[in-house]
This record gives sequence, C-alpha cells and structure tokens, in this order.
Amino acid sequence: MSHPVASLWAATAAPAPDTPPLAGEHKADIAVIGAGFTGLATALRLAEGGASVIVLNSGGPGFGGSGRNGGQVIPGLKYDPDTLDRLYGEATTDFAGRTAETTLSLIERLRIDCQARRCGWIQASVKRAHLPLLAERMRQWQARGAPARMLGAAEMERRIGGRGFVGGWLDERAGCLHPLSYARGLARAAIAAGARVHGDSEARALKRAGSAWRVELSGGAILAEEVVVATNAYTGPLWPRLEETVVPANSIQVATAKLPAELLGTILPQGNVVSDSRRVMNYFRVGPQGRLMMGGRGPFAEPRGPQDYARIVDALHGFFPQLREVPIAYRWSGRVAMTWDHLPHIHQPFPDLTMAIGYNGRGVALGTSLGLAIGEHLLDRSRPLPLKLSDIKPLPVHGLYPAYASIAVWYYRLRDSLES
Ligand SMILES: Cc1cc2nc3c(=O)[nH]c(=O)nc-3n(C[C@H](O)[C@H](O)[C@H](O)COP(=O)(O)OP(=O)(O)OC[C@H]3O[C@@H](n4cnc5c(N)ncnc54)[C@H](O)[C@@H]3O)c2cc1C
Repeated sequence: MSHPVASLWAATAAPAPDTPPLAGEHKADIAVIGAGFTGLATALRLAEGGASVIVLNSGGPGFGGSGRNGGQVIPGLKYDPDTLDRLYGEATTDFAGRTAETTLSLIERLRIDCQARRCGWIQASVKRAHLPLLAERMRQWQARGAPARMLGAAEMERRIGGRGFVGGWLDERAGCLHPLSYARGLARAAIAAGARVHGDSEARALKRAGSAWRVELSGGAILAEEVVVATNAYTGPLWPRLEETVVPANSIQVATAKLPAELLGTILPQGNVVSDSRRVMNYFRVGPQGRLMMGGRGPFAEPRGPQDYARIVDALHGFFPQLREVPIAYRWSGRVAMTWDHLPHIHQPFPDLTMAIGYNGRGVALGTSLGLAIGEHLLDRSRPLPLKLSDIKPLPVHGLYPAYASIAVWYYRLRDSLES
C-alpha cells in the first residue's frame, strides 16, 4: 500500500506490510481504531499478552501524523519535571522522562529497520531571554539523572553549522528515526505477535451491543469486548465531541535536494536533531540521503502549493544561508492535535472504552509509550495508566478554531519577535 503523501519519508520508507481492508463480521477481545504509533503499540502489547486484537485504520499504517513527522524521538511533556511532579505526581514525570528510551529499546527488541539512533536532541535558542528557562529545564532533568547539559554559542555553531543560535541544551536521552518505516515496522511486529491490522478500513460508527461494542465499517463490523480509540489529530465524528477537544493544526515540512558533501559535512555533523525554543517553533535535522529537513507551524487550511511552505523555507534559509541555492525537493504536511493545557489526555468514558489524544506535536516517543502503557493496563487493570484520566471537555466555540487559533499563533509570533 503506497503512502498518499509525497514526502521524503514516503519516498524512502521500508515496504508496507500487507494490511487488507476488513470485510465481513468479526469478533475480537479488543478493537483498536487508528494505526499510528499509539494504536499499533497498544495492539502489539495486547497481542503479546495473548489478547485477540483487530486494528483499523483509514489509510495504511502510519497514514496520520506517525508517517509524516520529523522523526525526532524526544522525551518529556510540555511542563518541566518539577511542575509535572506537582500537578501529576512523580510517576508521570518518570514516565515522561523515559518515553524516548522506551521507544528506542522497543525498536531494538523488535529489530525494526527504521534508521533509529540515539542521536541527542538540542533545544536551541535564538533568544538570550530564553536561556535561563532552558537552563532550568535542563537542571531539573539532570537532577533526575538525565544525561543533559547546556551548550554555549560556540558549541552550538559547531554542532549545528547554522547561524543565529545563542545557546541551548542537549538532551542525550533523545533519538531520531524514519517515522514511516517505524510505523510500518510496528505494524509488522503487531501482526507477527498475532494482531490483525486492516488498512483502508475506516470505522464509521461505534455502538453498544449488549455488554460489548460494535464497530461498524462500510464493508463489515467488529464485535469487541473493549475498544481503544487512537485517532488523535485525525479524529472525526466517531465519538460524540471527542474531535472538539483538540485543535487539529497543520505542521508543514520541507526537505532539500541531496546536499553536496562539503555542505553536508558542516551541518549537524554529530547527527543531532534540533527544535528552536520559540513559542511557534521550527524543528530540523538531516534526513535520508543527506537532505536537510525543516518543519514548523503551517496554515490551518490544507497547504495547496509551494506558496504555503514559503515561511518554513525562509526559516531554513535564515538559519542556513549557505543553502539558498539548494532546491527544495519535498514539501508535505500533517496534522497535530493541540489541547488547551498543552498536555495529552486519556479518556475512559466507559471502563471498556479508552481514548488517547492531544500530543501537541510531540508524539513519537509519547505515542509509543502511551500505547504500550494502555495495552499493559487493559491486560492487567492493576497496572496504572501513566496519566490521570480526564473527562471529554470540548473546547469552547470549537467550530471557530481556525479563526481563534490563527490569532493565537499570530500573537505568539509577535511575542517571539518582540523578545530580544
Ligand atoms: C509534520 C509533523 C511533524 C511532527 N514531528 C514530530 C517529531 O519530530 N517528534 C515528535 O515526537 N512528534 C512529532 N509530530 C507529532 C507526532 O507525529 C504525533 O503526535 C504522533 O504520530 C501521533 O500518533 P498517533 O498514533 O496518536 O496518531 P496518528 O499517527 O495521527 O494516527 C491516527 C490514525 O487514526 C486513523 N483514523 C482516524 N479516524 C479513523 C477512523 N474513524 N477509522 C479508522 N482509522 C481512523 C488515521 O488514519 C491515522 O492513521 C509531528 C507531527 C507532524 C504532523
């Protein structure tokens, strides 16, 4: 099954496993809706634990954010560890700190061929005003044993090979991978463990059927004891008001043509991946075939052509003026699910219906780890979920989000540009 997005990932990914559309009536212990990292990791863990699992996805595995992202495997949540401890308890902080390691060691255990490396993530600042905040974040993780340290302007220049960075911190827990190959590898591993994964199989309705659930598709149905909804930023009207709990924002990404060796040798020579510390941030890395990739916030409407990627290309040329003459070879986008509190949520409107949503653009490590934890919890209810359950709370006037979220992005950009 080919990937519908003309991304660098789709052009270079491992082959997709066979995931035929579901047809006819089926039974399973657990139906998982969504075959991104969350749904696939849930299904893998459940199948390894002996449950019968059917996974549905409205495209091939990795059709959503999981097959389109920057491939940066970053631990942590939006809030710093001391705040997480206070709000959610040390177990949540500990979970958040381990998500990258959980993901990278899962890939090692399953031998998924997805170019995964422990490459280290730099949160880089172009603003001196951000450095105390980054130093404090680094200190809090370091106090919890994380291999992390601050980088000065000179080391930033050596490590990044771009201009304008005044400092940052390096988190060596982080890694990088090829996200579409990873999603496909995870699907393959779930299938090998006994799960059934069906692509091009959109769940159209989710209904009670006695004490079980009936998941209806256009060509069939599943009767399942339990259901996991892992549709994240691609959530539709399947469950009342779930889609109104997030703002689905576009993240856009570009990749250059293959860089000539003399340029490639000076850009991110140690293989780190980077995000900048602005409120409306950009992220970048060297991707497959020696191409520089950069991504950031896009328009709320689906991008239609190169003009909708101009902002990110300008940012790329701003950081790396030496690449002005190098053509942009790939442009693509995907959706990220933003929440009002910048945190992911797990909902359980019924004990046998679990939903994970709202990763705010950072879900490679988080989606994998939450998926495994949900699987573990459903196999053995005494194993706690890593986040407190929350109610499904629709955002006010959700239908107007393109307007108010655009104003918020404009305001954050303004604040970014006003900071010295
Ligand atoms: C451009 C971009 C760059 C990003 N960069 C990074 C990064 O570098 N690092 C990072 O940590 N995170 C990044 N993210 C975020 C990360 O990709 C996501 O948080 C993560 O992939 C979410 O995984 P998921 O499995 O929860 O959801 P998804 O991967 O989005 O999967 C949800 C799936 O549900 C399916 N679906 C929806 N409705 C139905 C239905 N009714 N029936 C059947 N299937 C359905 C969709 O087809 C989709 O495949 C990025 C995201 C984007 C878009």
